[in-house]
Amino acid sequence: MSSEIEIDVSPEDLETGRLLFAKECTFILGAVKMEHIPITDLPEIAFAGRSNVGKSSLINALTRRKSLARTSNTPGRTQEINFFSLDEKLMIADLPGYGYAKVSKARVQIWTRLVNSYLKGRPQLRRILLLIDARHGLKSSDEDIMKMLNVAAVSYQIVLTKSDKIGKGALEKLIEGINKKAPFHTALHPEVIATSSRKGIGIEILRARLAKLTEQV
Ligand code: GDP
Repeated sequence: MSSEIEIDVSPEDLETGRLLFAKECTFILGAVKMEHIPITDLPEIAFAGRSNVGKSSLINALTRRKSLARTSNTPGRTQEINFFSLDEKLMIADLPGYGYAKVSKARVQIWTRLVNSYLKGRPQLRRILLLIDARHGLKSSDEDIMKMLNVAAVSYQIVLTKSDKIGKGALEKLIEGINKKAPFHTALHPEVIATSSRKGIGIEILRARLAKLTEQV
């Protein structure tokens, strides 16, 4: 199965995205505490999603690297925010995965505290990409994060992952369902982008959108 949803994007934006993401992307550091978060005024985009949603695969596909982002946020490992600099023009923040069933309440608290202080102390954060597995749709843990982002008033956009796993009809239905919930989520950006790191679907569009956000002042 392979599903592609049409999104309007200009050839100029595609080219800008292609050029930006052709540049070097380097790992900066992993922060377990707010004090460790890099001090920079580069525009920043953060990636969030449930464990196993395909976040590392997507970051690697965007940056054309095989193992830039590792599944470092698997349960049991340190929960940290990993920072990558793309050509010293865009900072990419990879937030620790959430929603893993076996995680203790204490760990959820650590996650929430770290992410909340990050959201509050990051004025250069242009958008959060909230990754949702196309096969599963929005889970209650995703909705919890959406509420948190609405309260923090941080603009976020839903990016569907693994869209090669479902058909076009199911994908359209999923997007329709998300759009229906949009009015209840004040900080949600209206565009949903369907991607597949495996098949390369939606990657160029996402690059174009991120490059555009980098340009804005
Ligand atoms: P993370 O925990 O969110 O960083 O997830 P990973 O990137 O490690 O991916 C979790 C699993 O999903 C791995 O087995 C990947 O091979 C698989 N996966 C990731 N992206 C895709 C995709 O686009 N399509 C399919 N079919 N599988 C994917």
